Amino acid sequence: MKIVVIGGGWAGCAAAVAAAKQGVEVTLLERTDSLLGTGLVGGIFRNNGRFTATEEMIAMGGGEMFHAMDACTTHTNVDFPGHQHASLYNIATIEPEVQRALAAAGVDVRYMVRIADVDMEGTRIRAVKTHENKGSVRFEADAFVETTGTSGVVSVCNKYGIVCSMCVLRCHTFGTRVSVAARAGVSEISGHKGEQVGAMSGSCKLLKESLAPHLREELNAKGVVIVPIPGAGSASDDKVSKKACQQYAQPEYTQSIVLLDTGHAKLMTPYFPQAELRKVPGFENARFEDPYSGGVSNSIRFLGMAPRDDALKVDGIDNLFCGGEKAGLLVGHTEAVVTGELAGYNAARQVLGEAQLVLPDTLAIGDAIRHVREQMQTEKGLGLKFTFSGSVYLERMKERGLFTLDVAEIRRRVDAAGLTGAFAARPTSNLREVARAA
Ligand SMILES: Cc1cc2nc3c(=O)[nH]c(=O)nc-3n(C[C@H](O)[C@H](O)[C@H](O)COP(=O)(O)OP(=O)(O)OC[C@H]3O[C@@H](n4cnc5c(N)ncnc54)[C@H](O)[C@@H]3O)c2cc1C
Repeated sequence: MKIVVIGGGWAGCAAAVAAAKQGVEVTLLERTDSLLGTGLVGGIFRNNGRFTATEEMIAMGGGEMFHAMDACTTHTNVDFPGHQHASLYNIATIEPEVQRALAAAGVDVRYMVRIADVDMEGTRIRAVKTHENKGSVRFEADAFVETTGTSGVVSVCNKYGIVCSMCVLRCHTFGTRVSVAARAGVSEISGHKGEQVGAMSGSCKLLKESLAPHLREELNAKGVVIVPIPGAGSASDDKVSKKACQQYAQPEYTQSIVLLDTGHAKLMTPYFPQAELRKVPGFENARFEDPYSGGVSNSIRFLGMAPRDDALKVDGIDNLFCGGEKAGLLVGHTEAVVTGELAGYNAARQVLGEAQLVLPDTLAIGDAIRHVREQMQTEKGLGLKFTFSGSVYLERMKERGLFTLDVAEIRRRVDAAGLTGAFAARPTSNLREVARAA
C-alpha cells in the first residue's frame, strides 16, 4: 500500500506525515532542494482564528507540523493591526525541523523531483513521472495527494502580476510548478477579482542588518515594529488591494510600514519601491532578502485549484486527493497544514479500504473546507480569499460561534464530534486487521 505526495510545502508535509501515521508507505516528491515552499518565507501562525484551527488539529492527533512551528518561534503573543496573539516562526530554522518530523514519521522524501506528467488507467492515476529528458523517474502508487500549491509560473507572474520577482520558489533554477490534476485531465479553477487573475503574495523580507539599529532592536525585543510613512497617501493602495491576504487591505498597512520578526524583517506589503522605502527614517539602507526584486513585484498565486469534495478527493479522478492552496482559496500555513492532513489521512483510508472522513461543521476546519468549496462555485466567492486569521472567514467563525481561544472548549468540541485522536498514529496490529478486511 503506497501513497505518493507531490509538492513539499506545508500541505504536502502534513499530508505525508498523516498518511505515514496510518501505516502506509509514503514518498514525498518536491521539485526544489527544500521543503515548505512558500512557507520558507512566511512565519505568522496562531493569529486570530488560526489558534482555534491549530488546537482543533492538535486535539484530533494531527499536531506534528504545529509542534515544529512552535519549536521554532521567535515570538509569541504578538499583536499587529487586525491580528492578535500571533506566533512567529523563524524562517531560518523551520525547514530542518520539518525534515526531522518527516524522518521521524518514516516518510521517504525525494528532492529535485519535478513531476511533469501522469500515467492513467481510466479515471485512476497509475504513476506520476518526471520529464523524459530530466532522468525519466516514475513513481507508481495506490493513491496520490497533490499539494503543488497555486503559485504562478514565471509567465503567469509576468502576465497577471508585474514581473517575475525572483521569489523563493526559484522557478529559474528548479523549473515551474506543474499541476498533476491538470495533467490527469481535470479542469482547474483560478481565483479572480474583476480583471485581476490570481492574487499577489502579500509580504516581503528585508535583511534585518539593513535596518537602523533602533528599529532592529525594537523588532528583536517586541517582534513587531510599526513605522509611519511620511506623507503616505492613496499611492500605496493599489498594491495592497491586489494582495492574496485580503485581511491586510486596511489603512494601517498603507500608511505605515509594519515589520514582523521572522528571523528576517517581514515587511507586510507585497512590494515597496526601494528608493521610496529608503526615504523613510530608519530604512535608509534597506535591502530586500525576499523576493529578490521585492522593490518591484511579488509572486502571483491562486491559479490552478482543483475541484474537490469535502473529503478532499479531486473530482473525476478516483485516487487523487489535494490539500493546501491546491484545495481552494484558503490562504496560510495553518490552512495548508489542516487540509493537507485531511487529504493525506483520507488517501491512506482509501488504500486501506475505509470510508472517507469528512470533518463536521461543528469544527472550524470542517466548516471552512465545506464553505470554501461552496464559495468557489460562485463568481463572488472566486474573488475572495479565506483564512482563519481574518476577513470574511473569521467573521463567519465568530457568527457561528466557532472562534475561541479556550483550549479546553476546543477539546470538548472535538470530543463531542467523536474525533479526539482521530489522526493519531494507528497501532500496527489494528492496521493489519484493516488491511485484511480491505
Ligand atoms: C511571501 C509569502 C509570505 C507568506 N506569509 C505567510 C505567513 O506569514 N503566514 C501564513 O499563514 N501564510 C503565509 N503565506 C501563505 C502560505 O505560505 C501559503 O498559503 C501556504 O503555505 C501554501 O502551502 P501549500 O503547501 O499549499 O503550497 P506551496 O507553499 O506553494 O508549496 C507547494 C510545493 O509544491 C512544489 N511543487 C510544485 N509543483 C511541483 C511538481 N510538479 N512536482 C514536485 N513538486 C512541486 C513546490 O516547489 C512547493 O514546494 C505566505 C505566502 C507568501 C508567498
